[in-house]
Amino acid sequence: MTMRIDLHTHSVVSDGTDTPTRLVLKAMEVGLDVIALTDHDTFDGIPEAIEAGKRIGVKVMCGIEMSTQLDGHSVHLLGYGCDPFHRPLVQELAKIRVARTGRLKAFAERMTELDMPLGVDDIIAAAGASPSIGRPHVADALVAKGYVEHRDEAFDKWLREDRPGYVPRYACELSAAIDLIHEAKGIAILAHPWGRGNESVLTAEVIERLTTEKGLDGIEVNHPDHDERARELLFALGGRLGLIRTGSSDYHGLGKRNNPLGGENTRDTAYREMLRRIRLRGGIV
Ligand code: AMP
Ligand code: MN
Ligand code: MN
Ligand code: MN
Repeated sequence: MTMRIDLHTHSVVSDGTDTPTRLVLKAMEVGLDVIALTDHDTFDGIPEAIEAGKRIGVKVMCGIEMSTQLDGHSVHLLGYGCDPFHRPLVQELAKIRVARTGRLKAFAERMTELDMPLGVDDIIAAAGASPSIGRPHVADALVAKGYVEHRDEAFDKWLREDRPGYVPRYACELSAAIDLIHEAKGIAILAHPWGRGNESVLTAEVIERLTTEKGLDGIEVNHPDHDERARELLFALGGRLGLIRTGSSDYHGLGKRNNPLGGENTRDTAYREMLRRIRLRGGIV
């Protein structure tokens, strides 16, 4: 029996729309055996997800998606099996989340300048109880005000990096983030390395250097943002470099309609290699 495995998902604890419990229930409903909850820059949803997983019969891995940067370009890094109480990692995540909240005033002012009056409280209301507030919540606030129809329209018109509503924020250096994940006893896997134009940032040469010099553990190969060509090239590159090659949906609930839960899967062999490396580091499996 092969297992069905989806190792990149979000809950309302960051910019997904399902509670951790609802996420695990849906994972069971679509026939997944293993999921990882990988909220942006926070482990806050992990205890609820693991508890729900035990009740419902879905294995839940402790995961995180860290906001990092390389040469000023945004890069997302997945961490698996980390000790969620590891001090330096916890402190870095807190620093990123403070920067997330710190830019809300600039978003509100920018939208207001763009003739879409918006207050910080509108964004906070859209974010609910999330400790990790991001552009999707700004998008939700714009939807609530009736300025756009849905998140995708908000990004395409206003929030993408090349759009007038974009406000940058602090992110951790990529190499420092890999070190932090390793120090916290986890393994580091690049999320959607060639999604959304990042092919020119995370080139084959850069991925090779991260592998040999930083001990990068793997790359996401199958991801909704990767076309067939990217998948083939990344699969070959990962094989040549001895990287773990994963496949994941990047599920965000209603927040990303093209990313159904379980829509992409990680192979058993890759999952087992992840567990082996996490155990070697002393992390949580
Ligand atoms: P932030 O971390 O605040 O910069 O927001 C990044 C999040 O916004 C990502 O995790 C995605 O969920 C979402 N996102 C980024 N770019 C787009 C896009 N072009 N269209 C829709 N959602 C996007
Ligand atoms: Mn997201
Ligand atoms: Mn991402
Ligand atoms: Mn993600």
